[in-house]
Amino acid sequence: MRRIRYIVVHHTAGNPKARLWDLVKRGSVWPPYDFLVREDGTVEKGRPLWVWGAHVRPDRPGWEHVNNRTSIGVALAGNFEDSPPPEAQFEAAASLVGQLAYKYKVPLKSIDDLSLRRDGGIVPHRQVTRTKCPGLFFAAMWRVFFGKVKYYYNLESKKAFAAGSGGIET
Ligand SMILES: [Zn+2]
Repeated sequence: MRRIRYIVVHHTAGNPKARLWDLVKRGSVWPPYDFLVREDGTVEKGRPLWVWGAHVRPDRPGWEHVNNRTSIGVALAGNFEDSPPPEAQFEAAASLVGQLAYKYKVPLKSIDDLSLRRDGGIVPHRQVTRTKCPGLFFAAMWRVFFGKVKYYYNLESKKAFAAGSGGIET
């Protein structure tokens, strides 16, 4: 089992109605992303997580650790270069990322905390690669998004604590 330390957030830069399996590229059997959040907030899961994705190739200095082996790729269907994601989709994506971070023990660190390069964390694709992904509007909303991710992560942690299954609250 690979060790997941990062979650990379993408937009598909394409048709907002696309389904995850529409995105499989020629010569591949799996979609590039691990998860797709559709326009209406529905979540689709692709390959089993032990199979590496094909969603990120870091080319910014210092971000080499964030790659397909070390990360989960979560994409939102649509292009947020010209308009923001619909609210339901934005919320569902934050909830998914929060739950994944909790499940795989990805540190709740983001782009304001550069120790995430070493320790792990949650990043928009453009942080590690010279790309517009996940779009100007999403990038402008990143701090709001990360705030919501933290909220959903804490919700998972409270649920686990209430269920007595190894709560991590101190
Ligand atoms: Zn991307």
